[in-house]
Order: sequence, then structure tokens, then C-alpha cells
Amino acid sequence: MSGAPTVAAPASEQHIAQTERYAAHNYHPLPVVIAEGDGAWVTDVEGRRYLDCLAGYSALNFGHRPARLIQRAHQQLDRLTLTSRAFYNDQLGPFAEALANLTGKQMVLPMNSGAEAVETAIKVSRKWGYQVKGVAPGAAKILTMHGNFHGRTTTIVSFSDDGVATADYGPFTPGFRSVPYGDIDAVAQAIDENVVAVLFEPVQGEGGVVLPPDGFLRNLRTLCTQHGVLMVADEIQAGLARTGRTFACDHEDVVPDIYILGKALGGGIYPISAIAADTDILGVVTPGSHGSTFGGNPLAAAIGTEVVATLQTGEFQRRARILGERLAAGLAPLVGSGVIAVRVRGLWAGVDIDPALLTGRQVCERLLARGVLAKDTHGSTIRLAPPLVVTEQDIDHLVAALTHVIGSARATAIVAATR
Ligand SMILES: *Cc1c(COP(=O)(O)O)cnc(C)c1O
Repeated sequence: MSGAPTVAAPASEQHIAQTERYAAHNYHPLPVVIAEGDGAWVTDVEGRRYLDCLAGYSALNFGHRPARLIQRAHQQLDRLTLTSRAFYNDQLGPFAEALANLTGKQMVLPMNSGAEAVETAIKVSRKWGYQVKGVAPGAAKILTMHGNFHGRTTTIVSFSDDGVATADYGPFTPGFRSVPYGDIDAVAQAIDENVVAVLFEPVQGEGGVVLPPDGFLRNLRTLCTQHGVLMVADEIQAGLARTGRTFACDHEDVVPDIYILGKALGGGIYPISAIAADTDILGVVTPGSHGSTFGGNPLAAAIGTEVVATLQTGEFQRRARILGERLAAGLAPLVGSGVIAVRVRGLWAGVDIDPALLTGRQVCERLLARGVLAKDTHGSTIRLAPPLVVTEQDIDHLVAALTHVIGSARATAIVAATR
């Protein structure tokens, strides 16, 4: 059975009412109450099944409850879960080495949420700027991009241009300057002797799967090297196989100075984030200068090690490429017929719905009724990012559902117009 009725059934209604009553309204969820997940599919409290095409904003790249990761988590739960970094544990060393090898970097610094890893990259970049680059005290500047999403802390929203994310949260942290995304000339013009880093997403996920122009990442690499500026890639959503490569920067064979990782690094089980860089950068971190109670804990490290091993098979990168081609082929005919544009990289698509036809929210509500979970962003864009374990039939199910939703809305619009 799949697809939800327009009105939530009693069990769902209760959970929704309870959540709305006692949990702050910082999200506007679709009316579905999920109780179980398996691979690319979830089941709600009434037993209806849905294809998960959001995949926890790419935290679930390996699907719901991937056997290998769950088994490893169970094993570690039965041994040791937390020590704090006041002591060593027997899981962090192997995780740090594995992640350093995956990124090709000499060191990693583990944290928990993505925002914490971004904060870590900002702190490390500034400290590197003062101690290594020789920037005057207090003058360090970091360049960011319009339309960015890097998380929710006060400092991170200081360089967001999303009015909803920033309203009434000031005063904001100074030291950031934003330039148009993908505009290499704007970056070049903004670089001065105080710029220590350029912080960017190789694909803007929350922005609507926005791809930079071809060559931007390579040109940015060259520019950063020329000016002694750190290239800091936020690969939290784009990285770890989503785009068909281990890192989205791999599409232009570019290696940033700092990788910021999160989301899928925790295998959809546990929040795990990290930054990875060479010792000349991460070496500026000294005891007491940064930390986290849970960062690098043995449960996280055990899961993270298994995630890295999973990525090293290359299977998920391959699946993202092949299935992404199928998704792209399925979406292409919609362009010009209710869809304004489609952007695809790997198994990741941004679909701009014609706002005259339906809002993004309406499309997601109608997809829900057809057994597909997806999330709108910026009003009329739908982001499609199913777990990389989906089958070809699942992709066809998604394309058929979206084609139906848009096709029937167009048919209704045409009937209304000819009346
Ligand atoms: C989700 C996300 C973050 C923030 O991660 P949290 O775990 O939600 O703090 C940062 N950067 C990007 C690109 C993201 O997609």
C-alpha cells in the first residue's frame, strides 16, 4: 500500500498534534508520521509506505538502517560509547586514520553536527591566518557565497542572505564578505591581504542543487593558491558519494585545503562531523583551544570508520552516477511542461516548478499522496536526493509520481483557462 489520503488518519493526527503542541515550530513538516525505515523506503504509523527522496538531507546516503553500519553500531554499543577526549579511546585512532586517508589529508578534527564542523573550519582558518599568514590581529576576513547554507549558529547565520534564517538573531559576527556564487571575478576582486579563506559549497544543496559554472572550482583553487588563501569546501551535503564522486570537488579534480564533512559521515545513525586538512593548517589547534564533549567519541568513531570503509568500495559513488543518469533522463521531458529547469549532479536533482502552476509545497503534498517523500526549498524548487540504495524501479516510481502531479496540475490549469 502506498500514498496518503489528504487528511491524516487518527494515529498520525495524534502524533502531529502532540509534536506541534510540545515541540517548537522551527520546521513545517509534511503531514506524515514515519515509524520505520528500510533502505530507501519508510513506513508511517498507519502502515503506508513511501520512497524517501530527501534521505535526511543526504545524511541517509546509505539508506535507512544499512546492515553493515547497524551491525557495527550494535557491536560498539555493547563495548563503549563515551569517554570524552580527556582520555584516549580505541576507536578514534582508526577513524581518524581512515578519514585522513579517504580525504588525502594528514589530520582530521572530529565534531558532531555540521554547523560545529563549519565553526571549526572558521576558527582554524582565522587562527591559521594570524599565526601562519601573518594577518594583523582581529583583521581576518573570510569570503562566502550568496545563497549559501552552512548551518544555524549565530556566527554562521551572520553570513547567510536568507532573511528567514537571520531575522532578529543579531548582532552578527563580523569578518565575512559574501560574493555571488560561482563568480570567480567577484572572488578575485574581493581578495585582499586580510582574506584568510574562501568558504563555499561545491554544489549549493539548500540553495536548490545549484551547480557552479564549469571551471569555477579549478579557478578558485588556482586563485586561492596564488593569494595564500585557504580553499574551504563545505562538502557536508554534496560529499560522500551523493554526486557520483566521493567529494563534489572531485568533479573538477580539485583538492581544497579544508574539507568540511557531516551528514552521511554518521551513516544516518548518529551525528558525526569533521574537518580534514594537512598539519600546516590543523596544527594550529592546541590543547584547550577547541573541543567538544561528544566529538570523536567511540560510538561515533566506530560508525564513522565503517562509513569510510563503505565509501572505499566505490559502490555508492557508482550507483549515484548510474541512477542519476536515469533520474536525469526521466526528468528532462518535464522541462517546458510545468517545470522551468532541472539541475542534476549524481543522484541529486533540483527541479524548478513553474510557480504559476504549483508551489513547491503543493508538489510535495501531492507527491506524498502518491507515496513519495520530497522537500521543497526556496518556494518553487523541489530537491530530489533519494538514498543511494534505491533501485531503478524506485527511480521510475519517483519520475512517474512527479510526472503525474505536474501533468494533472497542467490539465486542470488548461481546463480552467479555456472556461
Ligand atoms: C546541513 C548542512 C550544514 C549544517 O549541518 P547540521 O548538521 O544541520 O548542523 C552545513 N553545511 C551544509 C552544506 C549543509 O547541507
